[in-house]
Amino acid sequence: RIVYVNGDYLPEDAARVSVFDRGFLFADAVYEVTSVLGGRLIDFDGHAARLERSLGELGMPMPMPRDSLLAVHRDLVARNSIEDGLIYLQVTRGAADRDFAYPDADTPQTVVLFTQAKPGLADTPAAREGIRVVSLPDLRWGRRDIKTVQLLYPSMAKMEARARGADDAWMIEDGAVTEGTSNNAYIVKDGRIVTRGLGHEILSGITRAAVLRLAREAQMQIEERPFTLDEARAADEAFVTSASAFVLPVIEIDGAAVGGGTPGPVARRLREIYIDESRRAAL
Ligand code: PLP
Repeated sequence: RIVYVNGDYLPEDAARVSVFDRGFLFADAVYEVTSVLGGRLIDFDGHAARLERSLGELGMPMPMPRDSLLAVHRDLVARNSIEDGLIYLQVTRGAADRDFAYPDADTPQTVVLFTQAKPGLADTPAAREGIRVVSLPDLRWGRRDIKTVQLLYPSMAKMEARARGADDAWMIEDGAVTEGTSNNAYIVKDGRIVTRGLGHEILSGITRAAVLRLAREAQMQIEERPFTLDEARAADEAFVTSASAFVLPVIEIDGAAVGGGTPGPVARRLREIYIDESRRAAL
């Protein structure tokens, strides 16, 4: 695999990042994951805009202009012959002597991108059959709107979900669902789509924004508000969205079937609309 590190395209074994990198020492870094379908990038502009916002919240600039970033993404897709897959991008505050205070603003940022081939990304067993989730307390920090690489608790929650025979966790705070470990969470009740509104408590999903826009265009009713686990258990349907999974039906919560325990029509339709529209608008 050819990866990108600070301006160079290198075989993955030759790529190097300093042991003093603040991404490694402090999780002082942000990331984006963009999917690739048919060799083209899905929602690139949304991911670039959120990257700029995440960096800005941490007092960092964009490492390069949007057009250069797009060119690097496209180069990696071509050099690795990616048909369907993902591109991971990480920007750190760079390498500096270990100190909690940020280093000088002229410290070069570290920029790394790599691809992951995922043949058949748009048609997976999880998409066809749905996933099972368990509820766990949301023990993450208070700025989940910034897409940092500080992902230990979501990893722990994912492992706990697996240990309980499920696929993922829905995290709970103050009695309401925040989101999944790496996706936004939704329920459907009496034809209305309910998902938590934006704030510091959740990541503003790029897929969430696109799916809600498409749902509105299809005249579906949407309520952006917190929902409880009890509401979710009593819902007609549940689903999650993310750049790497698009729209995935949730068929079970804490061992109890949601709806009929099979993927529901709203999730299936939104998945189809989202993937069709994304392929059309891909770069
Ligand atoms: N919420 C969290 C915590 C995430 O990590 C992610 C994606 O990785 C999402 C939501 C979904 O965001 P997006 O649709 O931009 O992938």
